[in-house]
Amino acid sequence: MTVRALPTLDWDALTAEAARHLQALLRCDTINPPGNEYLAAAYLREQLLAEGIEPQLIEPAPGRVSLYARLPGTGAQRPLLLVSHTDVVPVERARWSADPFGGEIRDGFIYGRGAVDMKDMLALELTLFLHFARQARTTGQRLSRDLVLLAVADEEDGGALGMGWIVANMPDLLDAEYALNEGGGMGVELGGQRIYLCEMAQKGSIRVTLRAQGLPGHASIPHGNQAVAHLARAISRLTAGPLPMHVIPTVRRFITILADTQPRAQRAVLRQTLNPLLSEAVLARLPDPNLANALRALLHNTATPTLLRAGTALNVIPSEATVQVDCRIIPGTTPASLTAELRQRIPDPAIAIEAEPHSPGYEMQRTPLFDAIQHAIAQQEPRAVVAPYLFPAVSDSRYLAPRGITAYGFVPHQPEPGVPPVQSLAHGHDERISIANLTFGVRVLHDVIATLDKL
Ligand SMILES: [Zn+2]
Repeated sequence: MTVRALPTLDWDALTAEAARHLQALLRCDTINPPGNEYLAAAYLREQLLAEGIEPQLIEPAPGRVSLYARLPGTGAQRPLLLVSHTDVVPVERARWSADPFGGEIRDGFIYGRGAVDMKDMLALELTLFLHFARQARTTGQRLSRDLVLLAVADEEDGGALGMGWIVANMPDLLDAEYALNEGGGMGVELGGQRIYLCEMAQKGSIRVTLRAQGLPGHASIPHGNQAVAHLARAISRLTAGPLPMHVIPTVRRFITILADTQPRAQRAVLRQTLNPLLSEAVLARLPDPNLANALRALLHNTATPTLLRAGTALNVIPSEATVQVDCRIIPGTTPASLTAELRQRIPDPAIAIEAEPHSPGYEMQRTPLFDAIQHAIAQQEPRAVVAPYLFPAVSDSRYLAPRGITAYGFVPHQPEPGVPPVQSLAHGHDERISIANLTFGVRVLHDVIATLDKL
């Protein structure tokens, strides 16, 4: 078998193109709410039309525009979706050193809300979509599968006017074998070893309300059946330690790979985090509390109390007090099984536990898309490792998973000294991405698409 080498591409030109797209997209104020994603969609449409590609605009509500464009392949294989969202979260302008909607380049970084979540990925996907379109036009060389550029609205506010709407109303657009989306792709450093996280599973979420009932009364004569006190004790018990452990195959592989990259002593310690009898003791002793918290979230359902409500007047003992609890569940957990775990922790009959399912979570199989990602990373960083990863939050991929689409989260991003990790830049102040990371991204994603085409 002869393997044809990939043509050498002008990476500098592709990087410059991605940077130009990213700057233009960052200049679109698509804070959601209200969204105004039509601004980003209009830019994308203009770029596609200039190359002779007519995209489809989807506008379920005024201004809430998603964009869909298709580059036909030979049809030998089923399509690959390049997914992104065009909306962003709000900013605290006073805390930024740059205009969050200026697209400014400073010291090798592009600044703006969305620079890593996720207009960077959109700029990379647009650049490569156009690259493969030009390649088809000039050489007649087509990919074996259609490439679909899908830039949706409303991800940051739940997706009802973006991916959720498309799934419910235009599901045929999503006929695909694979999707690349956000949720992973970041490189992390552990003991000098670099590991790239490939999101192949996603936690679900359930919104829980704890409702405490007690007796009312005058605050000047306190009694022993106060709703607020019931609730306080419940919150205290809930946050005293993790819920029961659930290890899914993706997390077992992730932690095993992580451990295997480490020297013997650390390897043994990390592997013990998978042992239900020792896990918590080991996590509690890890020198890096951030790593411990991150690993703990992969091994347990989490229940984080956030919104509290009680009382109408200072001198009235309220008869009801509630807390909303943000629960993130390991795939396989049901509202009933989560409620049972919470009830075990909070036996107080004065507390009602109300669970409202939101997303069940999912776990994907290893497929040739993983091999393509591994190959692409090896080309750039032969010593780095790619590990399957459970994303502890939700993304639009939760709409794709039930449709049988293999959706991985992989936005290639190298860690850089002196720069906060991408996980804290997203939704943070001075969100930015280096030009060097755009080069890395365009090279890796190009290789993923080209390699997948041969598998
Ligand atoms: Zn995002």
